[in-house]
Amino acid sequence: MRIVTYILAALLGFFGVMFVVGAQGVVMRLIVGIVLMGGAGVLIYLTRVQPEKKEITHVQKIDLTGDVALEQMKCQSCGGALSKDNMEVKAGAIFVECPYCGASYQIEEAPKW
Ligand SMILES: [Zn+2]
Repeated sequence: MRIVTYILAALLGFFGVMFVVGAQGVVMRLIVGIVLMGGAGVLIYLTRVQPEKKEITHVQKIDLTGDVALEQMKCQSCGGALSKDNMEVKAGAIFVECPYCGASYQIEEAPKW
C-alpha cells in the first residue's frame, strides 16, 4: 500500500511541476499545479504519519494498564498482592492471573475496591 501511495504522490508531483512549468502566465494552470504538488506532499506526509499513530495508541494502552495496576491491588480470591506482571490486556479489558492461587479473572474498567 505504501508503494502505491508513493507512486501516486510522484505522479501528482510530476503533473504539478508540468502544470507550473507549462503555465506560461495562465493563472489557472499555476493554481492546478500548486494544488497537485500540495496533494503529493499530503500523500507523502500521510504515509509517514500513519505508522507512528498506531505506536502512540499502543503506548496509551500500556499507560492505561499502569493506572489500574496499583500497588495495593489484591487478588479477589486469596488476597495476594498482584503486580503488573500478573496482568494482561486483551481487547481493552484487563485480565489477572494470580501467581498465588492460580485464579484468573477479568477486571472491570472501574474497580470498586
Ligand atoms: Zn489469588
